[in-house]
Amino acid sequence: MAVTIEQLLNWLRLIDENIMEQRSYLTELDSAIGDGDHGANLARGAAAASAKVDVEQPEFIDDLFKLVGMTLVSSVGGASGPLYGTFFLRFGASAGHVVELSPSELASALEAGLAGVVERGHAVRDDKTMFDAMEPAVLAFRTGIVDGDVAYAATLAANAAHAGREATADLVARKGRASYLGERSVGHIDPGATSTALLFQALAEALA
Ligand code: ADP
Ligand code: MG
Repeated sequence: MAVTIEQLLNWLRLIDENIMEQRSYLTELDSAIGDGDHGANLARGAAAASAKVDVEQPEFIDDLFKLVGMTLVSSVGGASGPLYGTFFLRFGASAGHVVELSPSELASALEAGLAGVVERGHAVRDDKTMFDAMEPAVLAFRTGIVDGDVAYAATLAANAAHAGREATADLVARKGRASYLGERSVGHIDPGATSTALLFQALAEALA
């Protein structure tokens, strides 16, 4: 079954809600190994993006995610704004000027988003970043649509993101501010991997 722009709007709304709910937790995680602004950065970005979407009411998936991506790039200071902004810009460009996506097109859009994050931030596996939650989630989604529907695939993706996020605790940070701590970053979960897990949790909820 196709995924509609209404479901994708609902995804964005749920991301927004989850971020607002987890804002202090994200800040707490970033206070341990960064500068403590991850919750505030994402809350600002989500609020700005929601406001833009409410005003412009984009009718096509590419326009919707272009608007969200541009807003995140321009309104969020910090590493995460441009990274998530690029994720959504690439997601929209891959999706195209349409109002719904097949399961495979949605998988491709997620893959394009991930590729954008890599191009922008050059993270590889086990650098202790959002990539460590995003890559397994995107791979799990692609696998999931072979065996089941998008709801099943999104649940697999959310579980994979969650597991990837948990695994960042054991890693030494090699990218971003946390890398300044070196070995002292071990024992702490990465804030960006945590917000990425929220993003895939929201997708599972939107497609349930
Ligand atoms: P800043 O680090 O500039 O304060 P945030 O606190 O909003 O920005 O975001 C920090 C998160 O960004 C990290 O937890 C990490 O997951 C992610 N991050 C940082 N640098 C990179 C990178 N080069 N590639 C992918 N993710 C990164
Ligand atoms: Mg920070």
